[in-house]
Amino acid sequence: MTTDEDPPPPAPTPAPVVSTGPFCAACGEPAAVNWARRPTADEVAEVIRNELARREQLLLLTDPQLPRPDFGPLPTSDGMTRTVYACADHAISLDGASLIHECTCTAPNPADLPGCDCTPETPDPDPMDAPLAARTLPAHWTTGA
Ligand SMILES: [Zn+2]
Ligand SMILES: [Zn+2]
Repeated sequence: MTTDEDPPPPAPTPAPVVSTGPFCAACGEPAAVNWARRPTADEVAEVIRNELARREQLLLLTDPQLPRPDFGPLPTSDGMTRTVYACADHAISLDGASLIHECTCTAPNPADLPGCDCTPETPDPDPMDAPLAARTLPAHWTTGA
């Protein structure tokens, strides 16, 4: 007969709280705001690499008796943006967040807040933002007339 007893099992450690992002680029806290910046050359190259890999896969799966698919031109950096996230403490100004920042912009950099270290560009106007006056609603859709 043995007197050895198994040691009590260790108390279960609680599962860590997993936050699924996005996170502030400055401190890693969950993000509250975001804005856009242009992609770096490396990021554009990665998009092109991924697109080439996708096309290669599709060609492998394509019926060789059918005409070769026309993939069109490779993506370029034109119009491409990357989203930058920040928490409330590291947010740039609202005006700054409405612009598209340079690829080299270091925001949210606490040293520059609430501004940044680049000269952001004004995005092309969204056609849906055309003044409402340019679109005439039917009379029975307006109130107080
Ligand atoms: Zn932060
Ligand atoms: Zn900037």
